[in-house]
Amino acid sequence: MTHIADAPTGSVGPVLPTRGVLMPLGLDEVQITRGYWADLQELNSAVVIDHAEHWMERVGWIGNFDAAREGRLPADRTGREFADSDVYKLMEAMAWEIGRTGDVRLEERFQALTARILPVQEADGYLNTHFGRAGQAPRYSDLENGHELYCFGHLIQAGVARWRTRGRDEFVEMALRAADHVCEVFGPGGLDGIGGHPEIEPALVELSRCTGEGRYLDQAMLFLERRGHGRLGEVWFGPEYFQDDIPVRDAEVLRGHAVRALYLTAGAADAAVEREDGPLLEAVQRQMARTVARRTYLTGGMGAHHEGEAFGDDFELPADRAYSETCAGVGAAMVGHRLLLATGEAEHADLVERVLYNVVSTSLAEDGKAFFYTNTLHQRSPGRQTAGDEVAPRAAASMRAPWFAVSCCPTNVARTLASLGAYVATKDDGGVQLQQIVPAQVRTTLADGCPVGVEVSTDYPHDGRIQIRVTEDATRPWTLKVRVPAWARNEAVLRVGAETVMPADGYLTLTRAFAAGDEVQVDLPVRARWTFADPRVDAVRGQVAIERGPVVMCLESVDLGADVATATVDVTAAPVEADGQVLVPVRRIGMADPTWPYGAAGTVGAGQASGAAQGSAVAGASAAVVTGGSAEPELVPLVPYHSWGERGPSTMRVWIPVADD
Ligand SMILES: [Zn+2]
Repeated sequence: MTHIADAPTGSVGPVLPTRGVLMPLGLDEVQITRGYWADLQELNSAVVIDHAEHWMERVGWIGNFDAAREGRLPADRTGREFADSDVYKLMEAMAWEIGRTGDVRLEERFQALTARILPVQEADGYLNTHFGRAGQAPRYSDLENGHELYCFGHLIQAGVARWRTRGRDEFVEMALRAADHVCEVFGPGGLDGIGGHPEIEPALVELSRCTGEGRYLDQAMLFLERRGHGRLGEVWFGPEYFQDDIPVRDAEVLRGHAVRALYLTAGAADAAVEREDGPLLEAVQRQMARTVARRTYLTGGMGAHHEGEAFGDDFELPADRAYSETCAGVGAAMVGHRLLLATGEAEHADLVERVLYNVVSTSLAEDGKAFFYTNTLHQRSPGRQTAGDEVAPRAAASMRAPWFAVSCCPTNVARTLASLGAYVATKDDGGVQLQQIVPAQVRTTLADGCPVGVEVSTDYPHDGRIQIRVTEDATRPWTLKVRVPAWARNEAVLRVGAETVMPADGYLTLTRAFAAGDEVQVDLPVRARWTFADPRVDAVRGQVAIERGPVVMCLESVDLGADVATATVDVTAAPVEADGQVLVPVRRIGMADPTWPYGAAGTVGAGQASGAAQGSAVAGASAAVVTGGSAEPELVPLVPYHSWGERGPSTMRVWIPVADD
């Protein structure tokens, strides 16, 4: 098998389409210089990657490869059937990080891991520690749950990261052999199967982009087209669980296991772009539009069912039962990024921003050593702190935990943070688009050779002012676009000299023959605001959330001094901002137990704080609220949702019932 020998020149990043409305600027073209995202990258670099490697040594998932080499399998294997994939995801994170920082020590560790895995690959390219040996199930004997193709997908994505950052080495060769094996076994005339957990699809398309070899794209397309016809065997949750119920072209909305659905959709978007397959791209856009409109939490989180880790029905979005797996947040960012590139529509970058600030960064503890697997929007009882050396069950972990029995999320966070720069900016022939508001240096060359460079300075999301300084003399006029988040579109303004520009189609747009030193200022209305839900989201009807810029806020019991179940909030005035805090007027309801908690209006609920029953279960928006607690509202501080649970066990809610008048 021959492959293009050299790493592609130009951009470096996880998603590099050969066509589309916008091209991503690579990690070599965008440096995040400071601020919230830079801090996350630094934490990832200093702590998270080490932490994940340490844990995978400790629980033996890396050691599975040693056991394979030394003939100790299956006796000495640890972890679930997909444990290999987390080693590959760690290595993808390492690869991006080595590319970003040139960290020599990390490079040595990457090579050391490669040396332990490489000998495990079999002569025909097959590589998996869970199948195929004496005493193990045969290869591809459990496509529903075996995760072999899923593991290959993550190996290939790590291989792509390695190729694009360091060129073609033995790790890349290993990934190529695995991809060739997959094409050989599952290609035309081969096994007519698909993997129960999508992931091989976006991986093969990206490898095709990386190598220029169409057969990887062909194989991805084959997997996509095979799905939805009931090829996989029966499982408890039904074929919807792994999107084998409806062909990807025919589906109207994402359903079933959320991470599976999102990875599949990412792969479908990739294949549609490369094949210039309009109907497939339209199908993906249609499904995502309805999913975002009807099956997505305020945080951008997806997955309303713990059972099956799945999407619920339209508008079925219970705050307290939200699954909102961290990996689904990563998957939503993957899809949003791809659709942004394919269409240029700002709403997709809005979704990326929402999940990065409110799902991915929520998962990660401030110290980088613990994670949420699920991301509830309402914690009803104080969680239990997992001991530092304890492996937590995934969804049952009620606080951030250092590691999980199924630990897909930590390595997903790590690889996303290491490649965050890829989400910041895009370009087309006409100019550059700043898609995420991040302090950064951006430098690229347009198709005709016109150099473009800008330096972005801002304290966003704390503050809405953004200074953009041009750093290159242009050879001709080019267009600078700055994405304006949907919540800012009525007030955002761009100023250049005495001229002002208002947003249109989600962007502030300015065309100039820019010269180095030119300055542009953008102002976004970053202040705390009340956010209400479509009334069809009945689980939070009569409740309100608070957002500030792109950041969802929440109320914690440690700030209220009581269970958040007692809080109602007065929305007649705007939230208060003081001393860097957001405060809301809270009126507490009584919590004395009645003998029976239901009855006619005005008869239910006993006041505790006031000592007298003042039930006023009025019909309408706040019918669920029964007053009787504190009469006068008290100002209570909120915290960013991504910072909740950092001060010990607490109860928490994003959606707070609106107080009766
Ligand atoms: Zn996960």
